[in-house]
Amino acid sequence: MALIDSHCHLDDDRFDIDRDQIVARAKACNVRHIIMPATTAQRWQKIKTVSELYDCIYPTYGLHPMFMAAYQEANIGELDAWLDREKPIAVGECGLDFFIGHKDEAQQLKIFSDQLQLAKNHHLPVIIHVRKAMDQTISLLRKFAPLTGVIHSFSGSQQQANQLIDLGFKLGIGATVGFERAQKLRSIVASVPDTGLLIESDAPDQPGANHRGERNEPAFIIEQLATIALLRDVSENELAQTLQRNTNNLFGLNTAT
Ligand SMILES: [Zn+2]
Repeated sequence: MALIDSHCHLDDDRFDIDRDQIVARAKACNVRHIIMPATTAQRWQKIKTVSELYDCIYPTYGLHPMFMAAYQEANIGELDAWLDREKPIAVGECGLDFFIGHKDEAQQLKIFSDQLQLAKNHHLPVIIHVRKAMDQTISLLRKFAPLTGVIHSFSGSQQQANQLIDLGFKLGIGATVGFERAQKLRSIVASVPDTGLLIESDAPDQPGANHRGERNEPAFIIEQLATIALLRDVSENELAQTLQRNTNNLFGLNTAT
């Protein structure tokens, strides 16, 4: 069995003390590859440096909507140059986050649109962060179609899930699926087509039900693999193969089982 953690912030400073052990524990749990999305332009160099230390890591570059305070106008042009030079597997993470309010809504929409255009220009998929803005995201993705990518840590409705899959997007399923209260997400995960799902940790954030208050890490995705397999009534092995195929297809990877 081989798993790919499709969303892990392994560059996070909280991993500086024991990153080697985190990667070793992931491998021991068959999490063989890790996709590492960016947050701010200030962190792109660290993303690149960390990715060069481990052959199992794929970095991506983008501007995360939760960090608008760190955004500078030159960043979009700089991102264009990084995509040209580094040839990453995706643009991200980018998106819309209206959880805290709508204060910087116009700026978020502009920066997200600019990154969708860059993804089109560079023929890359996008890794998308969405909170309290799923319908706005879907209408932007319609405008920029055809594009592919993943809605990371998906938490929308069944109708939104169907619309995203019809548009060619996949749903990144995090540890939330393990919480009994996540009934809506669990029924979506049980019913979407095989090709619509990816698995992710979002480590060091979003720890699962067995790790409340802990730092999350990629090895823990085997716990949500078990949950998703139960919900979909398939074996963990079969599900792992499906998820790996989906991740390989979306990001143009060639990882073997
Ligand atoms: Zn993230």
